[in-house]
Amino acid sequence: MSDFDYDLFVIGGGSGGVRAARVAAATGAKVALAEEYRMGGTCVIRGCVPKKLMVFASEYREVFSDARSYGWDVEDGDFNWPKFSDRLNSELDRLEQVYRTLLGNSDVEIFDTRAKLADAHTVELADGTKKTAKHILVATGGYPARPNLPNAELGITSNDIFKMKQLPKSILIIGGGYIACEFACILNGLGVDVTLYYRGAQILRGFDEEARGLIADMMREKGIDIHVGTNIVEMAAAEDRPEHGGRGAGSDAAMGAPAEDAKGIGETRVSDTAKAAKGPIWVKSTNGKELVFDHVMFATGRDPSTHGLGLEEAGVEIGRRGEIVVDDYSQTKVPSIYAIGDVTKRVELTPVAIREGMAFVETVFKGNPTKVDHELIPSAIFTQPEMGTVGLSEEDARDQEPVEVYCTSFRPMQTAFAGRSDRVLMKLIVSQKTRVVLGCHIVSPHAGEMIQLAGVAIKMGATKEQFDATCAVHPTISEELVTMRDPVRTA
Ligand code: NDP
Repeated sequence: MSDFDYDLFVIGGGSGGVRAARVAAATGAKVALAEEYRMGGTCVIRGCVPKKLMVFASEYREVFSDARSYGWDVEDGDFNWPKFSDRLNSELDRLEQVYRTLLGNSDVEIFDTRAKLADAHTVELADGTKKTAKHILVATGGYPARPNLPNAELGITSNDIFKMKQLPKSILIIGGGYIACEFACILNGLGVDVTLYYRGAQILRGFDEEARGLIADMMREKGIDIHVGTNIVEMAAAEDRPEHGGRGAGSDAAMGAPAEDAKGIGETRVSDTAKAAKGPIWVKSTNGKELVFDHVMFATGRDPSTHGLGLEEAGVEIGRRGEIVVDDYSQTKVPSIYAIGDVTKRVELTPVAIREGMAFVETVFKGNPTKVDHELIPSAIFTQPEMGTVGLSEEDARDQEPVEVYCTSFRPMQTAFAGRSDRVLMKLIVSQKTRVVLGCHIVSPHAGEMIQLAGVAIKMGATKEQFDATCAVHPTISEELVTMRDPVRTA
């Protein structure tokens, strides 16, 4: 008989926490899980899943005109946000229930409450109840960060988008990463007037330059007003803007620490939503422009959810970016406490959190120490056009060793027939020495689907010659991956 209430207590019911809890319970371990908000976490409730459904919704605008080019007698329709939003929320309710059922069927005890660490083996629930566990897994994820700017709480974040009662007419998105670019495309597709300010020279920093260049061009062509080298310097409710003699940016009344800072046990972390967003927002930017938008959305990165969890008091090390510091086995400095997923800020992707959860169970409950492999992780950015990527960008690869670059860009058959100017890009980076394909970058409809499969070959260490030995599937966009005969350059 164990001295503890549980073999494992998981804090956080997102993708990583739920998977770890279920798989650990399947080994016969006694497992509990606490979640303060809705089961499913960022991915299911306010991230990947609702985002992807919004991507689908937003793509129909072009489908109507394409259909006419293909002989269909159809009119452009009007998008009905409340109707879509109701269906979206029903789907999220369904998915949340699926997660609960899966946990229940696995005999994981669920606590619908916030939990924090009391010590290395004790978790304290919001009502003060204490539960002991041999192992504690922190899988609390992250939350959208706002810049340190007076009145920043007037801006919304990706958390708020799904809860909007109606679509704004205009929005300013700050940031040039995954979330900024994806939501710029989604909202543009749904008919919102989208402006994007990115402080750097080109959006999607860190990705292959040709690929990000094409995405930026296409986003602009589709109507998104992208300003690079531009950032917000001041913001206020439009009625309060300085020229109008209102309180103005920086006033005591309007300022305040981001909601997150004030959170303690019993308070809900996900209420990190815009305070106002009730009226238009006045914005002054680094280019000197002063403009008014219905909403300002911050997509300026995500911070690990570590506040008020009793981590440091329990001896867990917190890193410079607020993340829980773990070793290759997701173990913290406190041997009984582990952490997985976004809260560790290794690679902030759902499938990675799930793999970290599985490796944790292998290590701790199956006696098979397993490191998580963070190399060659394929990923997709659901912009329009979509991007799929795995391995090194051309820039990173050529810094590492001499490479050959194979690249082609063309108008794909389906949209070219409809008279659209959309282009796709297929690119392989190949080691001159070993012939191994070091990177693959695809900008194309369904690039996410393509990169999953290219990722298998690249993870296996396929060479360019092995790609070439694979017969093309014709006529497809992806056949170009096996038919690019000559490098466009060496570097
Ligand atoms: P990212 O880190 O991708 O992008 C943050 C952006 O905000 C960058 O462009 C950054 O600029 C900019 N930024 C940061 N601070 C400021 C500031 N103070 N003022 C102005 N701009 C600022 O974060 P996201 O929020 O887009 O996404 C978080 C993570 O979630 C991603 O890294 C990804 O791992 C994951 N994700 C994955 C998705 C997918 O797989 N499809 C979809 C959505 C999210 P700079 O480049 O100069 O640093």
